[in-house]
Amino acid sequence: MIKAHISEIKSLLKTPKNVVIVPHKNPDGDAMGSTLGLCHYLIKYSHNAVVLAPNDYPEFLKWLPGDEKVLKFDSQVKESSDLIENADLIFTLDFNALHRAGEEYGASLKASKATKIMIDHHQQPDDYAKYVYSDVSMSSTCEMVFNFIEMLGDIEKIDATIATCLYVGIMTDTGSFRFPSTTSRTHQVIATLIDKGAENSEIHNNVYDTNSYGRLQLLGRAMQNLKVIPEIRTAYITLSQAELDEFNFKKGDTEGFVNYALSLKGIIFAGIFIESKAEEIIKISLRSKGEFSVNEFARAHFNGGGHTNAAGGRSHTNLEETIDKFISILPQYKEQLSQK
Ligand code: 5GP
Ligand code: MN
Repeated sequence: MIKAHISEIKSLLKTPKNVVIVPHKNPDGDAMGSTLGLCHYLIKYSHNAVVLAPNDYPEFLKWLPGDEKVLKFDSQVKESSDLIENADLIFTLDFNALHRAGEEYGASLKASKATKIMIDHHQQPDDYAKYVYSDVSMSSTCEMVFNFIEMLGDIEKIDATIATCLYVGIMTDTGSFRFPSTTSRTHQVIATLIDKGAENSEIHNNVYDTNSYGRLQLLGRAMQNLKVIPEIRTAYITLSQAELDEFNFKKGDTEGFVNYALSLKGIIFAGIFIESKAEEIIKISLRSKGEFSVNEFARAHFNGGGHTNAAGGRSHTNLEETIDKFISILPQYKEQLSQK
């Protein structure tokens, strides 16, 4: 983000504003951590700041400080519309295109006259915000919010509450500091957050060690459904709606399952295909190791996108047809996927 923009944002923030902070639909740890972290920071300057999520998010994020004040566009339509209408400033965090907030929410954000600020690390950002801090090399939007606060000269304003929120998103988006996006700078930011009061061990516990019995049983089923195509170093998992129902599926239960497929020795491309009867789609999560771009793959074939090594998409045909399509596409990538 250029210096001139930072000083413009600084002067915008000099007087209290109505601020709406937006994470992407089906918010994950980085989306909720970054929006809540920024919200707590802005509240310190007496801004009327709220996090307005498109929809609900998993239980394992519901302990985050400020969770009880988060509003949801899909169930609180009137309050949400009023907030957007009265907003002076809209921050969109952890996504690169307004439709990622959902069709209706995205359209009302687009129609809003508020000044928009994007902070995001996804590829190919759309051009809707006046101020754009986009950097695909960043581990997480939470690391970028830390940088943003630093650019505003306010590191000393980061307290334990803000630090806790930002820690969560860096932790979840880096797979607990193991993905290649994790840099020495990421660790330095994490160290500062711990110094500011983020209880690292407790945070890991809250996010990763609060499984339900049903979720672990569902993981067992997902592992039984794992298929491997060794010659193109690809593995994939399917879960039907009936299987989700059998194990009392709750939002967030399948988070991280796809990484087990990627953890197989020699596998560099992994996917999970999850049937959603309610949305009438198959939700797809894709992961890769090395140069194979699942962002390109998801964009080209499954109306999706994301990052080089982690992307998502959707299919409007049934589970079986979606898998058939996936398998039929793979030969196009044989060369890239069979390279050592
Ligand atoms: P996940 O597979 O965990 O849902 O998402 C992996 C990454 O891809 C995340 O950064 C997420 O924001 C992005 N992503 C997931 N689904 C979609 C999608 O349908 N469209 C786009 N553009 N990005 C997605
Ligand atoms: Mn993210």
